[in-house]
Amino acid sequence: RDELEKLVVTDHLSKLYSRKHLDQCIEESMRKDSGGSFILLDIDNFKRINDTYGHQVGDDIIIQISNLIKGNIRLNDVAARWGGEELAVYLPCTTLSIAKRIANRLVKRVEEETIPKTTISSGISFWSQEQQDSTEKLFKRADLALYEAKKRGKNQAVIQEYK
Ligand code: C2E
Ligand code: C2E
Repeated sequence: RDELEKLVVTDHLSKLYSRKHLDQCIEESMRKDSGGSFILLDIDNFKRINDTYGHQVGDDIIIQISNLIKGNIRLNDVAARWGGEELAVYLPCTTLSIAKRIANRLVKRVEEETIPKTTISSGISFWSQEQQDSTEKLFKRADLALYEAKKRGKNQAVIQEYK
């Protein structure tokens, strides 16, 4: 039964959690915690990787990066495949400035350790109990920050304050 449950919440390629499971973790955190950070990660130039090396290598890059993320966050942190070449990490009870430090660690590790060398961009958002917030708005802010990271030249993390 445990195996079956694991299968249901796991993304088959990356072996990270599914997006649905991440959603549930964030919703649970929003009910019981006072705040948390969301990190959205997108593999830079992924289409070019696929076109240059083929889809097999593209898939392998997703797996390499997923393993790097898992090895560089704590057990309580939740890493998921967000879709395609987008991955995400949720950090319960973690401030925006600490999340930025963690995202920078992930960006750096990926640049140093992937073969062929690949980079990621990251957008970070934060929710706290004081604001009227929702998962949708949290995701939207991370997406805006990710867009900004791409615009500033990729291979970096950008935070999005609540407004
Ligand atoms: P863990 O807590 O599950 O963390 C897994 C990995 O996430 C760590 O692997 C590290 O790469 C990254 N990480 C987690 N927290 C931090 C942090 O505060 N700063 C930085 N720079 N990286 C962090 P690592 O270092 O190989 O550690 C493996 C495990 O050893 C950790 O698993 C944890 O259980 C334990 N550990 C290592 N150092 C400490 C420590 O200073 N205090 C405690 N309480 N446990 C530690
Ligand atoms: P640091 O790496 O500068 O991290 C500062 C604080 O950020 C940590 O304080 C923790 O509250 C938060 N933090 C850092 N990485 C992670 C993470 O992957 N997940 C989560 N949930 N929070 C994270 P803390 O716990 O007092 O640790 C102080 C310092 O101890 C860290 O400074 C780091 O130098 C070291 N450390 C603690 N645990 C680990 C570990 O597992 N691995 C390594 N390599 N260093 C660790």
